[in-house]
Amino acid sequence: MIYKGIIHKYSELLDLPAYSITVSLNEGNTPLIPIPRLANELGGDFKLFIKYEGLNPTGSFKDRGMTAAISEAVGRNVKSVICASTGNTAASAAAYSARAGLKAFVLMPAGKVAAGKITGAIAHQAEVIQIDGSFDDALELVVKISDKHPVSLVNSINPYRIEGQQTGAFEICEQVGSAPDICCLPVGNAGNITSYWKGFRRFNEVKHTGLPQMLGVQAAGSAPLVLGEPVKNPETVATAIRIGNPARGEEALQAAHESNGRIISCTDKEILEMQSRLAQEGVWVEPASAAGVAGLKKEILLGNIDPKDKTIVAICTGHGMKDPDIIVNQAELKEPIPVGLDKLEEVIFSN
Ligand SMILES: *Cc1c(COP(=O)(O)O)cnc(C)c1O
Repeated sequence: MIYKGIIHKYSELLDLPAYSITVSLNEGNTPLIPIPRLANELGGDFKLFIKYEGLNPTGSFKDRGMTAAISEAVGRNVKSVICASTGNTAASAAAYSARAGLKAFVLMPAGKVAAGKITGAIAHQAEVIQIDGSFDDALELVVKISDKHPVSLVNSINPYRIEGQQTGAFEICEQVGSAPDICCLPVGNAGNITSYWKGFRRFNEVKHTGLPQMLGVQAAGSAPLVLGEPVKNPETVATAIRIGNPARGEEALQAAHESNGRIISCTDKEILEMQSRLAQEGVWVEPASAAGVAGLKKEILLGNIDPKDKTIVAICTGHGMKDPDIIVNQAELKEPIPVGLDKLEEVIFSN
């Protein structure tokens, strides 16, 4: 059967209005990649997989929710959509809006969005509006303007985003053959952890696949759910989760509680080390996407998680190519050499 995206595949499990008109880029169906060397390093005797969401059409998991939100909006005859974004939501909204013939307005915190994300939004002809403020400020603004004017909100406050993003959990249950024992993922505005927990419960109702423990991971400089209060000036290199007041924070805490899991934080150093470690496995993810695995490592080393005989799935939310600067800025590219075998031999074989 030809794959036609998540709405086509999972229509009977998704609560989307009948009037929806499917707008798809064949999102979803992402690989579950085994990472045995890292599992060995962390003590072995367990299975570790990465759900590589960077392979969605616009390079992040946001496409799963966006196909649902845009399909609902088109069915309602909406002409324009708006979102606040740390970058990936903007790129995804821009692409799906372009496909549907809608106008997209995307608000982003100036200077805090990775190059590949803002470029995506521009490429798909969204109206890019940068603000001198944070993501949280942008979200407040788009909620207000969409309440007042005929422009539809496609942030994860939109319930159809949550519906669509559940499909990541469905796919994992099908790929593993059951729910994993532990599912770890980064937490920013907390839509995704809300979706995964809802998705695992939904799939368990119909297919009896069981339930995982949810481990949500925030960046230490923007960890409102760990601190128990909003963070005024969130900071982290993991710009996708640079959020101080998550819209679905309560639901994230509930997911952690109900699943007997936790929400923890990792430092930027731990996150970047894990990004580099995953790249050495051939899986290049953006910094925020490494946070889930960084948190898992931390919990195993602290003895809070005993991985023995478990199946653990880490959601890697976005592709490394979204944020080239983070790599380039840490590296030193050598000067070009003149064309010549001597010179090349010298570079490769001297010392
Ligand atoms: C949006 C995003 C997150 C955070 O997801 P939330 O639903 O906001 O918690 C994490 N990683 C990447 C790459 C993202 O784009």
